[in-house]
Amino acid sequence: MRPEILFPIFKPVTALKGVGPRLGQLIERLAGKNLVDLCWHLPTGLIDRRFRPTVAGAPDGMVATLTVTVDEHIPAPNRRQPYKVLCSDETATVSLVFFNAKADYLEKLLPIGMERVISGQIGHYGAEIQMPHPDHVVAPDKVDELPAVEATYPLTTGLTAKPLHRAVQGALAQTPDLPEWQDGAWLAKQKWPSWRAALFAAHEPGGQAALEPDDPHRRRLAYDELLGNQLALAMIRNAARKRAGRAINGDGGLRRMLAAALPYELTEGQRDVLHEIQSDMAKPLRMLRLLQGDVGSGKTVVALTAMLAAVESGAQAAFMVPTEILARQHLDTLSELCGDLPIRIQILTGRNKGRPRLAILDDLADGQIDIMIGTHALFTEDVVFKDLALTVIDEQHRFGVHQRLNLGDKGLAADILVMTATPIPRTLSLTVYGDMDISLLHGKPPGRQPVDTRSMPLSRLDQVVAGVQRATQNGARAFWVCPLVEENEQLDLAAADERHATLARLFGPGQVGLIHGRMKAREKDAAMAAFVAGETKVLVATTVIEVGVDVPEATIMAIEHAERFGLAQLHQLRGRVGRGAQQGHCLLLYAEPLGETARARIAIMRDTEDGFRIAEEDLRLRGTGELLGTRQSGFPTFRLADPLAHQDLMEVARDDARLILEMDPDLEGPRGPALRALLYLFERDTAVKLLRSG
Ligand code: ADP
Ligand code: MG
Repeated sequence: MRPEILFPIFKPVTALKGVGPRLGQLIERLAGKNLVDLCWHLPTGLIDRRFRPTVAGAPDGMVATLTVTVDEHIPAPNRRQPYKVLCSDETATVSLVFFNAKADYLEKLLPIGMERVISGQIGHYGAEIQMPHPDHVVAPDKVDELPAVEATYPLTTGLTAKPLHRAVQGALAQTPDLPEWQDGAWLAKQKWPSWRAALFAAHEPGGQAALEPDDPHRRRLAYDELLGNQLALAMIRNAARKRAGRAINGDGGLRRMLAAALPYELTEGQRDVLHEIQSDMAKPLRMLRLLQGDVGSGKTVVALTAMLAAVESGAQAAFMVPTEILARQHLDTLSELCGDLPIRIQILTGRNKGRPRLAILDDLADGQIDIMIGTHALFTEDVVFKDLALTVIDEQHRFGVHQRLNLGDKGLAADILVMTATPIPRTLSLTVYGDMDISLLHGKPPGRQPVDTRSMPLSRLDQVVAGVQRATQNGARAFWVCPLVEENEQLDLAAADERHATLARLFGPGQVGLIHGRMKAREKDAAMAAFVAGETKVLVATTVIEVGVDVPEATIMAIEHAERFGLAQLHQLRGRVGRGAQQGHCLLLYAEPLGETARARIAIMRDTEDGFRIAEEDLRLRGTGELLGTRQSGFPTFRLADPLAHQDLMEVARDDARLILEMDPDLEGPRGPALRALLYLFERDTAVKLLRSG
């Protein structure tokens, strides 16, 4: 239950006076549905009202504060014309212009013959100096009421500054004084004010500096949010660990059989991470470990070995993947590697329906299936394992945090291994995983040559096509990735269709396959299988092939409109080639003129294949908002914290959270109520439910 003290700010925005359903909807779209969301809607700009020129000296377009005498009211001659009030100082006359204004209101506000201080934007129309709808009108003795600088907020279509400003003020007025959740000594050292004072100050920037992320008030609020995030993650992790894990100690039999069957030796990097993973599993604690390894580093066989350890001990393992294609591919790979092993591997995806699905579920519940590979379909409630001991989640960045937790409930004490090829800078991984243990898979299987990466303008498309054709005639296989048209799948597909048609015409019948997200699952399988088997030499694709697809025989990756892809995506795509012993080629085709960022991205791609460097450059080029805003990435979005600008705070928050829970795991101590309020304030309610006395 949300603490009562927070009730006032968890009211809907329409609870504010003057915010009806229409305005409420606009605000909701912009900031969120509760008053607290308005509190988090911080200003991004300033209006400086300290500029006080004469009327004649007030430049067009500027916000100015003028001291004038009211000379004359000119009521609107008709409904379409404005009401005007003429005012002047010793230098010139200014017309205050009002549309849809009430005369008696204006007569009271601007009495003829009186002096008034007015502030607003100046507009020059021919010889006339105007100020349409002044923001402020005050009598000279009330000039103190005029704010020196005023915050401006991000707006949305249909929502103007004034009502939003008023709504924010209304929300702020509802904020309670909350008990302090931050550590006293730390707070004193930072010289930060209380939460409420910091919030008010952040909405009343005194100057440009107060809008920057390093403004102390903004830092305090950011820290609060990061602490809430880290605390929630640490609690989730503690809860997972508390459910007394189990010691997985197989006899090594299956693992020895696998090692004997492998067509290669494990690399040193693979052995190192396996050692970490297996010793974690052998402990009676629950494992919660992230395996980070660049594209093509060989994570699959690591996962398989770990899963065999679970099977050896008489239990089951689950292998979760984000796409159907990947699930099929893993089924093929694992089945082949485990061909002689006495185990049963099964797949469960959205495609398994009806009776056959029920049969699979029965076998799973019976313990006849040892390794279950699946997509989101594994999350479904009726999927019950007999004895799940290990869950591996592949390409984790495609899943949300919530889903990860859900799966954890399937095996009461199941160990969890999440794998990702998207190298995440340390600070960012902290926001997602908190204090999760991390294993880094260094190096790549031997014999890999660097991919030869080239970029060229689309105007040379014919040359590229001819080159690919020559290569395929010599036995090569190529991926051809088609332009990504943002938010327009229809156009995406049209482009892929068209390229498929032209290439098929050129290369001859049956040589070119097509795969995209809108195809039926079976068609996708067929297209993939034909390419794997070498029946088709070129596979034209949208980005469905981005994650995890493994066709070692493919050596060419052509990417059309490379300038439209992000760095991480380009890196993933390129990772599809150069996986075998043969030289891989990556062709980045771009449309001219190339923007600055796109140029930089392509240069980095040519420069390096180091996924970590690419990830860091990506972050630098993109800035944070965009990177973290993407829902697909599974990153939480922050309202106040900026993971780049507040990196230092992230680390402190992590340590703080750990310390808090070490001393008071159930948040029952003196700081407990405040910390609980913090979790609710940032809507980390799920974490609170994990507390014993939650
Ligand atoms: P990722 O880490 O991207 O998931 P995969 O597990 O798909 O990488 O492995 C990439 C390729 O490397 C696969 O074709 C796999 O068979 C091969 N591979 C994995 N480990 C080794 C190894 N130790 N020696 C040689 N090839 C390996
Ligand atoms: Mg993989």
